[in-house]
Amino acid sequence: MVKRVEFVAKDIIAENERLAAKLRSLYDELGVKVLEFLGGPGSGKTLVIERLLELMTKDVDPSSIVYIGGDVATSLDAERIAKYGVKTIQINTGGTCHLEVPHIEEAIKALGGPQELSKARIMIIENVGNIICPFNFPLGAHLRIMVADVAEGEDKFVKHPLSTMVSDLIVINKIDIADAMGVNVDKMIEDAKRINPRAPVVLVSAKKGLGIGKLYRLILDMLGEEAPNA
Ligand code: MG
Ligand code: ZN
Repeated sequence: MVKRVEFVAKDIIAENERLAAKLRSLYDELGVKVLEFLGGPGSGKTLVIERLLELMTKDVDPSSIVYIGGDVATSLDAERIAKYGVKTIQINTGGTCHLEVPHIEEAIKALGGPQELSKARIMIIENVGNIICPFNFPLGAHLRIMVADVAEGEDKFVKHPLSTMVSDLIVINKIDIADAMGVNVDKMIEDAKRINPRAPVVLVSAKKGLGIGKLYRLILDMLGEEAPNA
């Protein structure tokens, strides 16, 4: 006789959502604003974060910024971020293709617990590079920021409507190479806005530093923070 314990994706997702709501309460209690960056591998999440940190660390003491990076096996991204003087924690998922609430709970422990997190003003979570399941597992962030790039294909948002729909802010990266790639950026914006009318769409080139100031001010605005250099 074979006994089976079946997990339905829907149940796992519902349980994660319950835990994510608890995390959000913790963030609010501690007074830390949380940004989560999601997107496919190579979409430029880390570079967008680096560019934002260049601006953010002028306004906010780097020691009051925490970065948690999810990666399957390396600490390459965290090493890039650590250069900005922010507190950096790398989570290696050991093969899992997205972060879940317990990963964040462990990272907070590694940071020194909620007392340490309460000293932070901003926490940045970079999810594992993956355009599908990270979007199904919220981590309680105040803003979920989708990073898509023009090289991934013009139909990115149409092909991933669920990921597009749950994002609060959509960043289209690598606009400097859109022409060379033969990508119609206006069509991408149109698709994104049709699928998710509530999310602002921002065009950037993290590599060239284009659109980053606008993105930064928008993020502060959406978080309800003052933008000192706006
Ligand atoms: Mg990265
Ligand atoms: Zn996954």
